[in-house]
Amino acid sequence: THFGFQSVPEELKETLVGKVFSSVASSYDVMNDFMSFGIHRLWKDHFIHTMAPGPGTKLLDVAGGTGDIALRFLEYCQKIHSDSTAHVRVVDINPSMLAHGSERYHKSQFKQNNQALFQVGNAECLENVEDSSVDVYTISFGIRNCTHIDRVLKEAYRVLKPGGRFMCLEFSKVDAPFVKQMYDLYSFQIIPQLGSIVANDRDSYQYLVESIRQFPDQKRFSQMIQEAGFATVGDGYENFTFGVAAMHTGYKF
Ligand code: SAM
Repeated sequence: THFGFQSVPEELKETLVGKVFSSVASSYDVMNDFMSFGIHRLWKDHFIHTMAPGPGTKLLDVAGGTGDIALRFLEYCQKIHSDSTAHVRVVDINPSMLAHGSERYHKSQFKQNNQALFQVGNAECLENVEDSSVDVYTISFGIRNCTHIDRVLKEAYRVLKPGGRFMCLEFSKVDAPFVKQMYDLYSFQIIPQLGSIVANDRDSYQYLVESIRQFPDQKRFSQMIQEAGFATVGDGYENFTFGVAAMHTGYKF
């Protein structure tokens, strides 16, 4: 399709991704629940529990979109530590996605202590973020949409404090044969159809499926994280739901 990256010159990818997310912004949260049967919520909860942020943690959530990770992070700090000093800066290239996130935040209890900041920005060039300034860097279902993964990782390394942690949640490769068959059927046949029927936007959901297919597998992505300078523990990743998604983490020392 015209959304397949192989047929799209590199310099057009950013524009294309911009159009896709402007188009899906208003239906993004509903469609996420609908298409993943709500499972993305469990993945995100586990992601935050693995982070286990302490009081006062400064998080940078890149490609933060509608604020799912940011709000979960603040909820965790409030619930586990009764902490209202933790802070999250959400950066996303798409103003429409960010506007939804900002709206959710303004309706939340966290607004009263100014615990979040929403800014438009590019993961490949985090212009307003100082070197060695954040405790944790997260990017959830965002990195596969970026044109240059190596530049994203380099920026993550730059902005993290020594001892800080890089954490990525992303769709990945399913290896169990039977599950893979079912997953391929679901993603190639059903997701674009659902996108067309429920959100009236087949192309954007076709893009979603193709972008997942073209993203590096667990081991290759872990290698890229190490090449950017991060230290990993064990394999450096954990599979979620047979590898439908994976969490990759690395430390800056
Ligand atoms: N992090 C959210 C979540 O987990 O639900 C949103 C993920 S959404 C699938 C992907 C987001 O990546 C979109 O909001 C999109 O605008 C953003 N994005 C794509 N390319 C980007 C880039 N180069 N820099 C920053 N954000 C980007």
